[in-house]
Amino acid sequence: PSVDGQLLSVEGISKAFGGNRALDGVTFTAAPGRVTALIGPNGSGKTTLLNMICGFYRADAGRITLGSSRLDGLSPHNVARAGVARTFQTPNIPADTTVLETVIAGRYAGHRATVAETILRLPRYNRVRRADITEALRVLDMVGLRYLEDAEATALPLGQRRLLEVARCVIDNPGVLLLDEVASGLDEDEVERLAELIRMVRKAGGTVVLVEHNFDLVLSLADGIVALAQGQVMADGTPEEIKTDTRVLSEYLGV
Ligand code: ADP
Repeated sequence: PSVDGQLLSVEGISKAFGGNRALDGVTFTAAPGRVTALIGPNGSGKTTLLNMICGFYRADAGRITLGSSRLDGLSPHNVARAGVARTFQTPNIPADTTVLETVIAGRYAGHRATVAETILRLPRYNRVRRADITEALRVLDMVGLRYLEDAEATALPLGQRRLLEVARCVIDNPGVLLLDEVASGLDEDEVERLAELIRMVRKAGGTVVLVEHNFDLVLSLADGIVALAQGQVMADGTPEEIKTDTRVLSEYLGV
C-alpha cells in the first residue's frame, strides 16, 4: 500500500487505562513530506499515541484521520492497509528468517497484522518476485546491512536489528511511517544511516512521526516537534521554538 501526500490528523484523543489518563485530549497534525517528532518524558503517552494511531487501542474520545479517511476504529490490519507502517521496539521475527526475508516481508505487511504472521506466510524464497528481492537489497544497501542478507535476523546485534526494522517498514514506501525510539542502541554511524533513510522517506513525500529520546537527532531531523507531558500537548512548534521553550526545557530536559 502507498498513500502519498496525506495529512495525519489527531484530534482530541483521550485514553485511560483504568484510572490512569495516558492521553488527555491530544491534538496535532503530521504533514506529508515532513518529519514530526513526538517528545516527552517517560510515561507522557508517546507510545500510547503511536498505538492509538495504528489501531492497537480504541480511543475513549477524539478522532484520527489520514487525508479524508477515518483511521480510528479500524483494526491494525486495516490501518496498515491504509498505508501506515510502524516500527516495533522488539519486532517479533520468527527464528530461521534471514535478513533479506525479513525486509521482503515488509512488502506484504499491509495484508497481515503482525511481522511474524507476514513472514510465516511469505511465499517460499524461489517464488518471491525478483522485483521484491531487488528492492529489498536496495534498502539493505542503504542501511548498510546488505552484506548480512543471508544472516539470521534474530541473531543480529540490537543496533542492526533496529536498522533492519526500519528497512522492513520503508520498503513498501508507506504513506505514513511511525518510528518508535529507533535510534536507541545505535552507534553514531548507525544513527547517521537511520537519519539518511528517514530523510529519504520524507523526500518521497511520506508523513513521518518520530518518537525519539535523542534530542540532537530530533533537532537535526524534525520539521515540527510536539512535546507531551502527562498525556497532554505541552508545546507544538518548530525545532527553533521548542528548543527555547522554557517549559519544555524544564519538563523534558530537566534544565
Ligand atoms: P511514553 O511512551 O511516553 O513513555 P506511555 O505511552 O508508554 O508513555 O505511557 C503513558 C501512560 O500510560 C503511563 O502512565 C503508562 O503506565 C500507561 N500505560 C501505557 N500502556 C498501558 C497499558 N497497556 N495498560 C495500562 N497502562 C498503560
